[in-house]
Amino acid sequence: MLPAQEAEQIILNLLEPLNIQQDSEIVNLKSAGGRVLAQSISSKLDFPYWDNSAMDGYAVRYEDVQKASVETPVTLEVVEEIPAGSVPQKTISSQQAARIFTGSMLPEGSDTIVIQENTQRNGNLVTISVSPQPRQFVRHRGSFYQAGESMLKPGIALDAPDIAILATAQYSELKVYRRPRIAILSTGDELVTPDSSLQPGQIVDSNQYALGSFVSSNDAIPIFVGIVPDQPDKLKKAMAQAIAEADIVLSTGGVSVGDYDYIDEILEELGGQIQIRSVAVKPGKPLTVASFDNSCLYFGIPGNPVSALVSCWRFVQPAIKKLSGLKHNWQPTFINATTKNELRSGGTRETYLWGNLNLVGGVPEFSLATGSHSSGNLINLSQTNALAMIPIGQKSIAAGESIKIMLTGQLY
Ligand code: AMP
Ligand code: MG
Repeated sequence: MLPAQEAEQIILNLLEPLNIQQDSEIVNLKSAGGRVLAQSISSKLDFPYWDNSAMDGYAVRYEDVQKASVETPVTLEVVEEIPAGSVPQKTISSQQAARIFTGSMLPEGSDTIVIQENTQRNGNLVTISVSPQPRQFVRHRGSFYQAGESMLKPGIALDAPDIAILATAQYSELKVYRRPRIAILSTGDELVTPDSSLQPGQIVDSNQYALGSFVSSNDAIPIFVGIVPDQPDKLKKAMAQAIAEADIVLSTGGVSVGDYDYIDEILEELGGQIQIRSVAVKPGKPLTVASFDNSCLYFGIPGNPVSALVSCWRFVQPAIKKLSGLKHNWQPTFINATTKNELRSGGTRETYLWGNLNLVGGVPEFSLATGSHSSGNLINLSQTNALAMIPIGQKSIAAGESIKIMLTGQLY
């Protein structure tokens, strides 16, 4: 039984990120949100493109208005109006001003904006009764970004602000990593699809769907292989095809020590190098990880539905992240929280207990899901958003103590 962190390290070391040349594709900016950038981004333009106004008001020469006050107001001649999108036609000379709007180009000769709230307009004259700061409300060309500097580097997941600057830098298309392809198969003679009429002894295959959703929410493409019975020849064929087609294969079931658990044996027959056979994690002790020469990584995950998801969150998610081209943040994120309930563990394995992380007055608090914490009980795993982690060697954590939490859903 490998400690979880060691297993995680072995898994990450077995994977290379997708190749930035061969494993990339061009996407339209409109569908690039969430994708991992596979090129460097820079712009030939400065930002802002030119000196412009940050407010609605008047463009003036600071020296004309620096002494303006309610007692000694300054009156200037308004020589031009510059709506956004137009180019100033006049140079502002002494005792002159231009009407200006947010984003408009600053006219030659002016250096400061007086906000319209501090002015009084009368025909072609404007009276200013508050002295501004020098260069106030002018956004200077290149003050946010200078042409040619690096703007975005490959390996980041693009979010809304990133998309905004890509638009600003005039990228209507860009290169992103392709999404990893993850094959999913459920193994077991007892399994049937959700639309079948259940016979005694049969179980509906939930793992295929749960893992498919998990894969999609990790920005990867699920390939649904289906249910494969516990028959070595059928398993071998399905596994070989999945290994040939996918970057990662996830199979559930058949990795324990039962008479019908064939996965490890078949992986070896197919030329796989078994790297991990079990991990000191509860639930989810049986975990087979095998590497293949074609760089496919195979995860033989336990069949119990809760164990299957815990294995995915703890070990598969970092693998997908590294594979996807993301430069960092592969490991699960643990958050400190206080526990509302006492938490217990056998002490010999890193133990995960599911429940809800809530913010109580802004402070994260974990409450254990009610009902059975059996690895076969999916029912109370639903509608939880967090796993509390009890480290190996620890048998209990008292209510009110600080614990580490892995978020598995949204925090409300
Ligand atoms: P196994 O790991 O094959 O020994 O399976 C452990 C338990 O998980 C058994 O009770 C199985 O019936 C159940 N199980 C296995 N695969 C699935 C699946 N795809 N969906 C739901 N339950 C499953
Ligand atoms: Mg089985």
